[in-house]
Amino acid sequence: MALAQDVLNRLSSVLDADAVLTAKEDLIPYSFDGTAAQQEMPGAVVFPRSTGQVAAVLKLAHETGVPVVTRGSGTGLSGGSLPVPDCVVLCLVRMDRILEVDAANLTLLAEAGATTQAITEAAAAAGLFYPPDPGSMKISSVGGNVAENSGGLRGLKYGVTRDYVMGLEVVLADGEVIWTGNKCVKDVAGYSLKDLFVGSEGTLGVITKVLLKLIPQPEAKRTLVATYARMDQAAQTVSDIIAAQIIPCTLEFLDRTTIHCVDDYAKIGLPRDCEALLLMETDGPAPVVEQEAARMEEIARRNECKEIHVAKDAAEADRLASARRTAFSALARVSPTTILEDVTVPRSELAHMVRFVAEVAKRHDLRVGTFGHMGDGNLHPTFLTDERDEAAMQRVEAAFEEIFAEAIRLGGTITGEHGVGVAKKHFLAQQAGEPGLRVMRELRRVLDPKGILNPGKVLDQRPLNE
Ligand SMILES: Cc1cc2nc3c(=O)[nH]c(=O)nc-3n(C[C@H](O)[C@H](O)[C@H](O)COP(=O)(O)OP(=O)(O)OC[C@H]3O[C@@H](n4cnc5c(N)ncnc54)[C@H](O)[C@@H]3O)c2cc1C
Repeated sequence: MALAQDVLNRLSSVLDADAVLTAKEDLIPYSFDGTAAQQEMPGAVVFPRSTGQVAAVLKLAHETGVPVVTRGSGTGLSGGSLPVPDCVVLCLVRMDRILEVDAANLTLLAEAGATTQAITEAAAAAGLFYPPDPGSMKISSVGGNVAENSGGLRGLKYGVTRDYVMGLEVVLADGEVIWTGNKCVKDVAGYSLKDLFVGSEGTLGVITKVLLKLIPQPEAKRTLVATYARMDQAAQTVSDIIAAQIIPCTLEFLDRTTIHCVDDYAKIGLPRDCEALLLMETDGPAPVVEQEAARMEEIARRNECKEIHVAKDAAEADRLASARRTAFSALARVSPTTILEDVTVPRSELAHMVRFVAEVAKRHDLRVGTFGHMGDGNLHPTFLTDERDEAAMQRVEAAFEEIFAEAIRLGGTITGEHGVGVAKKHFLAQQAGEPGLRVMRELRRVLDPKGILNPGKVLDQRPLNE
């Protein structure tokens, strides 16, 4: 711990009595996030309770040059909230109030530390719907969702977090507080600053409040599970459903390894003698749902699914969707280290990409489970390995390099939802190109001239005098 005593004293003076941690044993839980094989000790962890306290911490950091790593619930999968040496981790979980549900304007205002689940439940209590549902929604914070522009199982039909952000309160690097956006459906006054902060991964400002759009609850839902002997048949089913102009709210894929791990974990009796499983959900007005479910079933059968099962009630549908949400945790149980990625390709390239991942894993002698949001083209190849085995870790790295290069070659992206963080910043140039990176660097310098916000994440910053 090398933060100056003076800085610690000043932090304590602007925060509540129990809001500054400095003992090593207290700091350890904040020395990593959901990303495998990455750890760094911070100098201190602080827990503000108000925007004013966040502003006071940032003013102090700006003045003293102390780096600040903003943290929500620490579930990130690209090392975004991983500390940098001797930084202050600014953890927002105590700012977790739902401030307003405005049923007249269909909006919800919350502090950034509120969990995604709490937002969903507050909306539902008012008879409304907040669709973004990352697999981590029970614990992830809405500030983290905005900072990563998180997606979820319902992304295909309902979009991602960005599509629901109407306004943000943000504390800038020097402690100044701005509000961007409002409850208006239309607003074209000036640059859309809120869109700049969505997906900014804690590098441009600290989000303290989030104004979200809510929508009416869908009237009905149907959930189907189809299994296939061959991956191609599942991929073709997805293509045919989209070509039939059906946009299901969920169209998820699990490969054989993932099916086995999920069933061992969730014990819901998934069929095991198959190569691929599709979880499909349609929602909306009841007659439309009935019609779409019937057409999806017919398309699945036409593509020679082995079995198709329609959930008999809401409880079974929830069980199936929850089982899919456990995919990452289920895979994580079977090996000491689980490295999960989220390459995304145009949907027409999905079958090729799944095959490519399997072939790369075989060539590098690695075990992989692949699942993902098939309808979005967003795949999660997950390597099951052991970080103590250096040679295996090098092989994982080499495999990912090939996978990212292939995704870019196919017109895809190195990350569809988990962000760049530290894990993927060396691949960003390949995708954004040098002019794109220069604009990103310049934007960052304007908003954070001293480079104190989440340094070293997303981009390698250049010295100020360059
Ligand atoms: C089991 C599991 C399942 C997951 N499933 C999904 C999924 O389906 N879809 C998906 O998109 N992601 C998923 N994730 C990844 C992760 O949960 C999301 O990125 C989530 O939005 C992170 O929220 P958090 O509160 O944990 O943020 P953290 O991990 O604490 O932070 C993430 C990033 O956001 C920044 N940040 C956090 N809060 C703020 C703030 N208030 N202001 C500014 N910057 C901030 C941090 O600096 C960091 O760069 C999953 C993770 C796990 C472990």
